[in-house]
Amino acid sequence: MIEPGAAEFDSSEAAARALDVADPLARFRERFHLLPGRIYLDGNSLGLLSRDAEAETLAALEQWRTLAIDGWLGADPPWFTLGEELGALTAALVGAEPEAVVVTGMTTVNQHALTATFYTPEGARRKIVATALDFPSDVYALQSLIRLKGGDPARDLFLVPSDDGRTIAEDAIVAALGEDVALALLPAVLYRSGQLLDIPRLAAVARERGIPLGFDCAHSIGGVPHRFDEWGVDWAFWCSYKYLNAGPGATGGLYVNRRHWGTAPGLAGWWGYEKSRQFDMVHAWEGAAAAGAWQISTPSLLATAPLRGSLRLFHEAGIDALRAKSLAQTAYLARLLDETGLTSSPYDFAIGTPREPERRGGHLAVEHADAPRIARALKARGVVPDFRAPNVIRLAPAPLYTTFHELWRTAQALREIIDSGEHLRLAEGRELVA
Ligand SMILES: *Cc1c(COP(=O)(O)O)cnc(C)c1O
Repeated sequence: MIEPGAAEFDSSEAAARALDVADPLARFRERFHLLPGRIYLDGNSLGLLSRDAEAETLAALEQWRTLAIDGWLGADPPWFTLGEELGALTAALVGAEPEAVVVTGMTTVNQHALTATFYTPEGARRKIVATALDFPSDVYALQSLIRLKGGDPARDLFLVPSDDGRTIAEDAIVAALGEDVALALLPAVLYRSGQLLDIPRLAAVARERGIPLGFDCAHSIGGVPHRFDEWGVDWAFWCSYKYLNAGPGATGGLYVNRRHWGTAPGLAGWWGYEKSRQFDMVHAWEGAAAAGAWQISTPSLLATAPLRGSLRLFHEAGIDALRAKSLAQTAYLARLLDETGLTSSPYDFAIGTPREPERRGGHLAVEHADAPRIARALKARGVVPDFRAPNVIRLAPAPLYTTFHELWRTAQALREIIDSGEHLRLAEGRELVA
């Protein structure tokens, strides 16, 4: 289909439109509430609302209105097993058997639930390995976990450094996984540069060395296919409001490999109890047989229902087809910036995302010394990017709804902003939520 990496490259508007005509996923765009007059490239931070997600949410409200308490078992689907049912639907996105995934909690809460289970420091083996480019929440949670277990984050947390400020070398991670390491947590895709780590290689090394290794998939779920069962990944977690488009604060998810089922959760709660006996209300713990055991509390119906509609779109489109389009779109945009002179003087944008498809997640990190003001100038022109300090404009084509023509127009906007200097008239600095 689309070959933006081919030797000859057509940077014309007509060529962008031709790519849209040839796009086998183009029909999904109308399933979303698009923002009139705007180009939305922030779906890696908060995906747009689909009509399917909206309908599921309204149906959930209606069932609450009409069924009340009987909705736990009588709703469609029953609320009592919503986490398991949606987990099974999510399993295809992470390459897992259905019971290995459950929809529950939020990214950081799920991280706590899993790391509290698998971090068992003992003797000289007490270090946690993460990376210097991690999303801050992940690091805060690890620091607090170490303190909770009587350790000192300054001594027990090792953040694998980055050589270039953008990426983390897998070799450096492998070198860090020594005998003193009790747990490792890595991002599948780095939130700023969009680097995709070599998950199968890292999982294999960690397993060989007996180190429980988990992945934060907030920036990969719904954007990148995973094969967790096949790769032998220990555990993973994610949110549903980025590429999964399930809405702000939507219920997240987690994965636990079969070999860990039956391990007592570090943060237990009644929602992780064996379902058939949960309402026996006895105090002796009997965890659910699979990943469901890591649930803590009653799921929020209204924060979970949209995910059901959203997942339908992923199943219809197929994660491999979405990945193919995503790679084509990020390659197209990077190539367009190169070929039209935007990555050289006087424009001076730089691509901070690895060029190799197998090292790239779903967004493109476009760097510029004046990134905060350029990001705001883009927004003023109706192109919605996001900014990540200190110098990154993240542009995320969402393969379910972004067109190649929108990417072409975004490149035009970047050129016109620099040509006119309109960003220079904006105040310095970023917005509170950027
Ligand atoms: C978005 C994101 C989070 C957000 O955490 P919440 O608990 O959902 O607020 C955490 N980690 C990473 C890597 C993220 O990208």
